Amino acid sequence: MTNSITLVRDVLRALECVAKPPCALHEPTFGGNAEAYVADCIQTGWVSSVGAYVDRLEQDLAIYTGAKHCIATVNGTAALHVALLLAGVKPNEEVLVPALSFVATANAVVNCNAVPHFVDVADETLGMDHQQMKDHLARIGETKNGQLFNQHTGRRIAAIVPMHTFGHPCEIEQLCEVADEFQIPVVEDAAESLGSSHRGKHTGTFGKLGAVSFNGNKVITTGGGGAILTDDSDLAKLAKRITTTAKEPHPWLFNHDMHAFNFRMPNLNAALGCAQLEMLPDFLAQKRQIAGAYQAALSGIDGVKFVVEPEEATSNYWLNAIRFPGCDETFRDSVLTATNEVKLMTRPCWTPLNRLPMYTSCPASDLAVSDQIFRETINIPSGCGILTNEA
Ligand SMILES: *Cc1c(COP(=O)(O)O)cnc(C)c1O
Repeated sequence: MTNSITLVRDVLRALECVAKPPCALHEPTFGGNAEAYVADCIQTGWVSSVGAYVDRLEQDLAIYTGAKHCIATVNGTAALHVALLLAGVKPNEEVLVPALSFVATANAVVNCNAVPHFVDVADETLGMDHQQMKDHLARIGETKNGQLFNQHTGRRIAAIVPMHTFGHPCEIEQLCEVADEFQIPVVEDAAESLGSSHRGKHTGTFGKLGAVSFNGNKVITTGGGGAILTDDSDLAKLAKRITTTAKEPHPWLFNHDMHAFNFRMPNLNAALGCAQLEMLPDFLAQKRQIAGAYQAALSGIDGVKFVVEPEEATSNYWLNAIRFPGCDETFRDSVLTATNEVKLMTRPCWTPLNRLPMYTSCPASDLAVSDQIFRETINIPSGCGILTNEA
C-alpha cells in the first residue's frame, strides 16, 4: 500500500517535469501556412466539396507515405468504411479487428453490415499478434472454394484490419504473410500512425488499402478528415467515385451511376491539411523529444514502464503511454485520479471493444493480452504544445 502511494507520487512528479499542468491529452498545434491557406479558400470561394487543396493534399500525402494513390475523405471512419467495402467486405461476413482499438475500427466494419471478430494484441507492439492470428485462424478457419470461413458461425472471413496503436507500428509484415497464407485481404487502420514506418515503409501502405485520420487529436489535423491509401489504381478510381456520389464528369448533367456516399473532404479542411502536412516533420521531431523526456524522467522509478517503439519500427509517438506491469484497475485509477486532479490530463486505454454493449456477442479469440494492457496502461499528455507550455 505504502509502496503504491509512493509510486503514484513519483510518477506524478516525473510527468510534471515534462508536462506542466494544466495540460490536455493532445491539443493540435497550428502555425506555418495554416491561416494563409484557409483564408485563400474563403477569398476565392472554394470552401466546399472540390478545390485545389483537396488535390494537393492527396498528392502530398501520396508522396509522403509512398502510396501510389491517396483519396481524401470526410473523416477516418469513412476512409476505413470505404476501404473495407473495396477490399470486398459484404454484409454478414466477418472482419478480424484488434480488441484493443478505438471504437471506430469496429464501427467501420458494422457500417458495411459486416461483423467484427475480435482478436488479441501482442504485448510488445500493442497491435495485432501475428502468431496468435495464425493459430486462431488455423483453429477456427475452414477453407471452401479458396475462401476462408469461420466454422463456428459459417460466415466468410473477409478482411483483417491491423491497427498501429498510439502510432507504434504493429507486426505488419508478418501479419500480411499470415493473411496471404489464408488468402484474406489486409486493410490497415493507420488512423493514428501518419509518420510511422516499419523497416522504412510507411504504415498504411502494406495492405491492399489503408486508412488515416486527421481528426483534431491526431498527429496532424484538418479539423475532421481522413484518407484512403492504396497502390491499386482501379481501387483508387473506385474509392474516388464511391466517396463523391459517383457523379459522372459532365459540364452540366447530374448523372450518378451507382449508389455512393458523400464522404468528400471539403477544400477548407484540405487547406488546413496542406499546411499541417508541411509541419509534420517538425511535429515528429518534437514528439520524439517529448517521448525521450518522459522516458528519462520515468527511468529511475520501479514499477512503471514507458511504452517505446517496437524493434525495426519508427513510431510517430502520437500518444505516449505508460504501463504499470501487473497492476490492477484500482491502482491504475488511483494514478488517473491523482494526475487529473492536478489538471495533468491522463486517460485509460480504450475499453476492449468486445466489452462494449453492442459488441458483446461478436466472435472473439482469447483476449488476455488486450485485457492486461487495458488494466495497466494509461495515456499521458502528448501534444507538441507541452514543450512550450510554461503555465
Ligand atoms: C481516430 C481513429 C479512427 C477514426 O478516425 P476519425 O477521423 O475520428 O473518424 C479510427 N481508428 C482509430 C484507431 C483511431 O484512432
